[in-house]
Amino acid sequence: MQNYRVSINDLPPDGKQFDLDDQDIWRTPLQEFEMDCRISAPLMAHISVLPAEGGCLVRGELHGQVILPCNRCAEDAVADIRSDFEEFEELPDEDAPAAENARNGNATPNLALEAGSRIVYERNAPMLDLAAVCWEEFMLALPVNPLCKPDCKGLCAQCGANLNSGDCACIPDEGDPRLAVLRGLTLHKT
Ligand SMILES: [Zn+2]
Ligand SMILES: [Zn+2]
Repeated sequence: MQNYRVSINDLPPDGKQFDLDDQDIWRTPLQEFEMDCRISAPLMAHISVLPAEGGCLVRGELHGQVILPCNRCAEDAVADIRSDFEEFEELPDEDAPAAENARNGNATPNLALEAGSRIVYERNAPMLDLAAVCWEEFMLALPVNPLCKPDCKGLCAQCGANLNSGDCACIPDEGDPRLAVLRGLTLHKT
């Protein structure tokens, strides 16, 4: 994948705008983490980066559409992605072990990124990783409870049939406390 790092020290005073629509920015980590998530309408991010004391200000917007498994029936659930974000990216502490390692060219140069910072050092220059920004904002924009439709009936807990395509032959196992009492009696008798 292409490198989307922006040198923070080289930002003009009024900031810089970026349009990102390379689907690999999202597709690569989706595959890497083996996530059950397909891009159904291209993801696009518009990001502006402003220089600020001790870091930079990252403002942007992300939109697109993905298909996730429905939380109730596991069929396709279409989820619109639309989010606005504004965050201050602080320069990682120069004395932090991660930054130290990266500067000295030791192993694990990506440690700073893995530890949560979206700023990495390249030859002593702080670089904002726009691909990391796009990925993290995407993860935050994913629905917590994706549903194929708002009233998805889910799967039968007993036979596993998809109840959206009709009732199965099972006797409902819950809902009526009187049935629970009857079941209790039956169990007691046998
Ligand atoms: Zn469903
Ligand atoms: Zn059933």
